[in-house]
This record gives sequence, C-alpha cells and structure tokens, in this order.
Amino acid sequence: MKVAVMGMGVAGSYLVARLAAAGHEVTGFERAAEERHDSICAWGTIKGELEGFCGRAGMDFARYLIHDGKRMQVRMSDGSEFGIGLSGLCTYDKLRLIKDLLAGHDVRYGSAPPLSELDGYDRVVDCTGFHRSYLPKLEQDFFLPTYEHKVVYEGGVPFEDFYIEPFPGMSGYFWYFPLGENAAHVGAGDYNKGHIKAVDGFVREHGGRIVQTKGRPIRLATPDMCRPYSSGKVVGVGESIGTVYPLLGEGIIPSMQCADIFMEHLDDVPAYERAVEKHYEVYGRVFRFVRAKIRRDFSVVRSLPDLLTIFRYMKRNEARFGMEIRMGNLLKVARA
Ligand SMILES: Cc1cc2nc3c(=O)[nH]c(=O)nc-3n(C[C@H](O)[C@H](O)[C@H](O)COP(=O)(O)OP(=O)(O)OC[C@H]3O[C@@H](n4cnc5c(N)ncnc54)[C@H](O)[C@@H]3O)c2cc1C
Repeated sequence: MKVAVMGMGVAGSYLVARLAAAGHEVTGFERAAEERHDSICAWGTIKGELEGFCGRAGMDFARYLIHDGKRMQVRMSDGSEFGIGLSGLCTYDKLRLIKDLLAGHDVRYGSAPPLSELDGYDRVVDCTGFHRSYLPKLEQDFFLPTYEHKVVYEGGVPFEDFYIEPFPGMSGYFWYFPLGENAAHVGAGDYNKGHIKAVDGFVREHGGRIVQTKGRPIRLATPDMCRPYSSGKVVGVGESIGTVYPLLGEGIIPSMQCADIFMEHLDDVPAYERAVEKHYEVYGRVFRFVRAKIRRDFSVVRSLPDLLTIFRYMKRNEARFGMEIRMGNLLKVARA
C-alpha cells in the first residue's frame, strides 16, 4: 500500500516505522519545521509497555529511559499526602525516540498538504492529534488546556521522584516528572484554568531555571465521542480519535496501541473501527465519571458503579498502568 501518515507525534512516527518494516510505501508529513518539531508532553509512560512497542519497531527502549520511578507522592488540595508504589512508571526521551523511529524514512517536515494533494495515496492516516486536521470536525469535543516548563535545577531538585497534586473537583492536576538528576517537566492541565498559576507558583517556590515552556490542549473526549474514525480514504489513529485515558491524561500508550490496531486491520477499515470501539469501550465510562466530577454533577453513591468499573479495570491492568492500584486511593481522589 502507498500510505501518507499525517503528523509525526508518537502515533505517526511509530506507524511510519511499522508500515515501512511491513513493506509498505510510506511517507510521513509533519506540519512543524524539522528544527522546531517537538513533543509537547511530560514524557511519562510505562516501561514494560514501551519495551513492547519498541521491540515491534526494532528499537531498544532502554536507550531512551530517563527516570525509572519507585514511588509517586500525591498531595491533595486539603494538604493531606499519600504515596503510590510504582512498578514501571518512568520518563523517557520521547522526542529522540520519535526522531529515531523516523530515521531513514521519507518524512516531509514543514508540510501539511490538503487532502486534494494526496491523491496518489491508498490511505491517508490522520495522526495529527488534537488538531484532527484530516477528519470531520467533532460535534462534541472535550479538552483541557495545559502548560508545562522544562526546569533545570542547579542547587538540588525539589523532588527525587514523581509528584502530583490533583486539583479540587478532579478538574486536572499539577505534575512534577523527573528528567534525570537535575531536571524535570513541571506542568499542569486544568479544566478550571488554574494550571498556569499552579505551575508558575511552584517554580517561584522551588526555584530552578526554565529552559523551555510549552502547552497545548489535551483531548479527553474518548473514542466513543470521536466518530467518525474514517472518512473516504482518511483513517484516524491516536489522539485525533480520542485515545487518551481520561483519568490520567495519559495518551502515549493508548495512541501506540491504536497504531497497533490499525496495523492489524490495515486492509479492513470497518474491522479497524470495530476493534477501536471494543478496545476503548471502558474509556467512555471513565470519561463520563471524570466529566461528572468536573461539572460537579457527582455523588460517590451515584458514581459508585463507574468507580468500581474503573477500579477493576485498572487493578486487572496494574502492570500496564505501572503503579499499585488501590480503591482507597481512588476514593481519596474522587472525594476531593
Ligand atoms: C502538556 C501535556 C503533557 C502530557 N503528558 C503525557 C505523559 O506524560 N504521558 C502520556 O502518556 N501522555 C501525555 N500527554 C498526552 C500525549 O502526549 C498525547 O495524547 C499523545 O502524544 C498523542 O499522540 P498523537 O501521536 O496522537 O498526537 P501528537 O503527539 O499530538 O502528534 C501530532 C503531530 O501532528 C502534527 N500536526 C498537527 N497538525 C498537522 C497537520 N495538519 N499536518 C501535519 N502534521 C500535523 C503536530 O505538529 C504533531 O507533531 C500529555 C499531553 C500534554 C498536552
């Protein structure tokens, strides 16, 4: 097949590597110029999962690992704190992995051609993430604004490991994700728009030198809200069709899983769409729980069935989430 992959983020770059390895003729298009191409993300993921994706793309994840987490500290808005044992949550050099996945392939940077100029391709894959530039506009979207600094600490880091502060009403959270011995991604996303104040307040309090600032909206609308997944020869993969786990704002693994599903059903778009619906079914339920909480249309009793579903799903997939999953912790966050 002759395939155009639009958007060289985590889904698009992985797809370029996998399609090329499978013998397809693939071209990657990225809107940003090569020297400005970046990955707006905190670079947190789960080691075991990424080892699997990297293995399938002929890469060694160990080369990209930055910080291997042991314990994540959670501070609630009432000042109480608790720790979560980690078993795989890590940070990695996401941008370098993207660049390495693309090395040696036909990638056109600074290029976002309209569909009318992509006539010669059998498939056009929309991996443009939040932009969803090649698929019909969503009728009902839901996203959070985010803001993040990369901070370098010359006089010692404020935290040795992962640290988060959920915002009241679960409207988002503040994160501190370590990037080696003297740097971190310090950021936040908040539906109620307290994210910039939280991040800048943290930097004022803990010091450090800001070397980069970035941000973009993150889509929390789940695949059940992001139909259609295809239009003509365009097929969506990744955040363009809502593959972000809404409770955590985690999109790396779900977007790469989506690329795997696409590879499995390359010749059969309806089968791909059915597989996407099935794989991300629980995401819709998680989203409705999060949205109810954000909109204050929430009671622990009414939401208990959803909470139990979320707990069972995450407990069953504890290794996939790279952290110990406890109902008590989930309840603490839900009650906030
Ligand atoms: C601040 C922030 C922090 C996050 N932290 C984490 C985290 O720690 N862990 C985690 O798992 N998830 C995190 N996420 C979510 C995760 O980054 C995304 O869900 C995931 O990267 C989505 O991958 P994607 O390939 O679908 O889209 P993207 O990574 O967004 O890539 C889309 C690409 O398409 C390009 N593009 C856009 N429009 C066009 C066009 N018209 N033509 C060509 N190219 C185009 C963009 O420049 C970009 O390179 C975070 C998100 C944000 C915003």
